Amino acid sequence: MEKLALLGGKPVFDGVEVPEKLFKWPVFKQEDEDAILEVFHDNTMSGNLVTRKFEEEFAAWQQRKYAVACCNGTMSLQTAMWALGLKAGDEVICPTKTYWASCLSAQNLGAAVVFANVDPDTMCLDPDDLERCLSPWTKAIIVVHYYGHPADMDRIMAFAKKHDLKVIEDVSHAQGGMYKGKRLGTFGDIAAMSLMSMKSFSCGELGIMVTDDKAYYDRAVAYLHYERNNADNITTEGLEEYFHMPLSGMKGRANQLCTAYARVQLKDYDERIKDIRKAVNYFWDLLEGVPGIHAHRVDEKEGSTMAGWYIPHFIYRKEELGGLSIRLFADAVEAETGFKSGVGGNLPLHIHPIFQTFDSMGLGKPSRIAFAHRDVRELDKGLERSEKIECGSLPYFRCYMPEIIELYAKAFRKVAENYEQLLDLQKENDGTLDGQWYGKVNKTDK
Ligand SMILES: *Cc1c(COP(=O)(O)O)cnc(C)c1O
Repeated sequence: MEKLALLGGKPVFDGVEVPEKLFKWPVFKQEDEDAILEVFHDNTMSGNLVTRKFEEEFAAWQQRKYAVACCNGTMSLQTAMWALGLKAGDEVICPTKTYWASCLSAQNLGAAVVFANVDPDTMCLDPDDLERCLSPWTKAIIVVHYYGHPADMDRIMAFAKKHDLKVIEDVSHAQGGMYKGKRLGTFGDIAAMSLMSMKSFSCGELGIMVTDDKAYYDRAVAYLHYERNNADNITTEGLEEYFHMPLSGMKGRANQLCTAYARVQLKDYDERIKDIRKAVNYFWDLLEGVPGIHAHRVDEKEGSTMAGWYIPHFIYRKEELGGLSIRLFADAVEAETGFKSGVGGNLPLHIHPIFQTFDSMGLGKPSRIAFAHRDVRELDKGLERSEKIECGSLPYFRCYMPEIIELYAKAFRKVAENYEQLLDLQKENDGTLDGQWYGKVNKTDK
């Protein structure tokens, strides 16, 4: 029996130097710098021409007709909801385990968020829970391809069709991923996503919305872009009266330092994520059959792929490791490797007071139900199984370096196979709800 490093044994990474390149992201070249500096020297940060070019190129890459860039992913999602016509009194279904921006801005539109469970293996919206969430006021479903894992689009789209619901895909974790041979972001009426610094497709601070529907596109432009909200750009009827003003009351355009950078990043993106895919798949192949930790990934034989593997995760099954808490498991891995796993993923959104009590407009009612036909918070009681999901992040390999990846796999295996050494350290309250509302980008908060 090998003694675990947490208990004084020799760490797997003893004397090993981890090459910086393994985790460096985004990868950039001189061309990225040149593109950014050109905008800088031309003083066109607030212009539109570079952004328009990026939108065209991104739409072609994403295999959709139209793309609208905006200042961040949060804004792209609110825009998507408004473009589809989500309004006061409507309900929108969203998985509870996701980043807040997937759905929080629905409250700005007066719509009520109904939270659905996620599937314990995919951590994506569980299609079996949709019926429970449905009501005569349901207007749309927001689907998140969580941590790069494609959601069950066949069943979700069939349900939406049957009940005449719109679908928004939040692709913030999954640019470039595939579901049964089709790119993620091509299933919903609209897809919206973040392209901020840490996402797989990473371009500074940026968001983008894509659709095949000209009316949605026009509404999105009118909502975000006061300078583009005019007869040159917009053909959908009913908007003319409001030309030259942003209908959101906010400035949503993208900074061209970011869109110039994004144009260059897009050229190599597919190649780069191929390497990430190879790296993380290799890691998981090495851990096949190890108890306690289960791969959060798809079977690629079906033509589905994990995208850029945005913060790859393992699903933790403590019952296979004598009830060992995930916190202790992660501490033991850290002692072997120096890698600190983020435990728990995004906390379930429904437990945050912003979805329970917060009254943002002083209407005397929580914003979540300010215009609702029923108290949708009642449905949160059905979300217990999503609260119990345990997962942890893996080292986020950005390139294929088999020797080092083998060492990480060895460390995870060592802890899983020697878990009994740790059981005595277990404290009573270990394993209670763990996670975070958002991830930290850097070790230091810059
Ligand atoms: C990051 C993220 C967003 C929001 O994007 P920002 O660019 O940070 O505004 C939305 N949805 C999900 C799932 C995200 O992870």
